[in-house]
Amino acid sequence: MRHVRTTERRSAIAPSMSARESEAELDHPPPLRAVSNSAAAELNSPIPLPPLEKEPISQAQWADWRWQLRHRIRSVDQLLEYFPGLVNPEALGRASERFPLAVTPYYASLIRVAGPADPIFLMAVPQIGELFDGPFLTEDPLSEEEDMPVPGLVHRYPDRALLIATSACAVYCRHCTRKRVTGHREGVMTRAELDRVVAYLRRHPEIRDLIISGGDPLTLATGVLQEILALLRGIPSLEIIRIGTRAPVTMPMRITDELVQMLRRYHPVYVNTHFNHPVELTPESAEACLRLADAGIPLGNQSVLLKGVNDSAEVLETLFRALLRIRVRPYYLFQCDLVQGVEHFRTPISRGLEIMEYLRGRLSGLAIPTFVVDAPHGGGKIPLLPNYILSMSPSHTVLRNFEGMIVSYPEPIAGDQPDPWTPRVGTVGGVWEVATGRRTHLQPERMARQERRLAGRRLGRADADQ
Ligand SMILES: *Cc1c(COP(=O)(O)O)cnc(C)c1O
Ligand code: SF4
Repeated sequence: MRHVRTTERRSAIAPSMSARESEAELDHPPPLRAVSNSAAAELNSPIPLPPLEKEPISQAQWADWRWQLRHRIRSVDQLLEYFPGLVNPEALGRASERFPLAVTPYYASLIRVAGPADPIFLMAVPQIGELFDGPFLTEDPLSEEEDMPVPGLVHRYPDRALLIATSACAVYCRHCTRKRVTGHREGVMTRAELDRVVAYLRRHPEIRDLIISGGDPLTLATGVLQEILALLRGIPSLEIIRIGTRAPVTMPMRITDELVQMLRRYHPVYVNTHFNHPVELTPESAEACLRLADAGIPLGNQSVLLKGVNDSAEVLETLFRALLRIRVRPYYLFQCDLVQGVEHFRTPISRGLEIMEYLRGRLSGLAIPTFVVDAPHGGGKIPLLPNYILSMSPSHTVLRNFEGMIVSYPEPIAGDQPDPWTPRVGTVGGVWEVATGRRTHLQPERMARQERRLAGRRLGRADADQ
């Protein structure tokens, strides 16, 4: 598959891939079940990425996460070796000075078109747009620095806290919320800092849920991560540990047997990862997720809504369905934060609501994440939904479903309800009738469900006739 992908990419670099082709691909996501065999077969063929052609790399090297980390693309010059046709490299250089650049060879191999038409390219390669700061963007829109009682620990919510264990990631996502931290100096928390965090957590037993994040904690050596986990597990009030990591997406070979065997000793451990586009669901990433799931680690996914990447109901539908197949539960869909350098990724809130409107009812509820705005000024996470409550009276609440059917939900019968009000003659029709219990529902003329029911009835009759 990797071989195929790379070939595709090369042929696609000159002429751009037609919209039809990419749609067809979304309609038919890779058969994730057949993963291991095909992955093994592929690994036997050399990987023809441009810089690697100079010195052929072995299957063992490619599958080694440390090799991937060491061979990350770190400069625009290196990028040019991969993508000679890169437009305006000088400006991209400035963008990468402002916000560090790193792409693993694995993640780079997912790029099929070296330009903004490609979702992986957009997420991994610096863009000129990063040099432009819209009027509302700040360095730390979530005011995390103000919610840090001790360095590296963000205590924002009553019962949970977030640990910034490292500033390093395998790939520096161009849309990262912590652009102020990530990659500027790849550093790990010191033992002294960690001790202060542990002391704080001991003084605050109300914190039951700790999220180890960064940066990406899975860039740490397994032994270092184990030390952190062991220290945390010494705190009796800490009930669950979550790991926030993009490794399954950007460096799936990080999820080794050794790692999952270590993690499972510190249960309950949850992992939240960050897939944004179906192209990221490769045999390798599927294998990484299945391996974590097999170790009893519940997996969630946090996507960010990004213009040009996944601001489409169909792309997200494909993504969320595919995630469930690899046992990852879509958890959050984030509105892009107001962080400097991401103006070009921002979508209006209405786009997210439009997408939620589309998903509800069409997809398994398991596949639908909560759409969340992490509000500026440290407002925290605010879930948003289309409006499903249309009207209310003391006796009835009027709801509408995804099909546009309007239903009345009668409230419990209580002694002190006001008498129903009698309308003037001629006041007929409308939602008001549903709100006062005069009608139980209003229904659109055309609903797929109605057609299904009618067809069923016709079928039933046909059966009876026989
Ligand atoms: C998102 C976040 C959490 C976790 O929030 P959940 O809604 O429980 O997933 C905790 N702390 C901080 C600072 C966060 O930003
Ligand atoms: S992996 Fe996460 S923390 Fe690291 S750059 Fe990407 S979004 Fe930011």
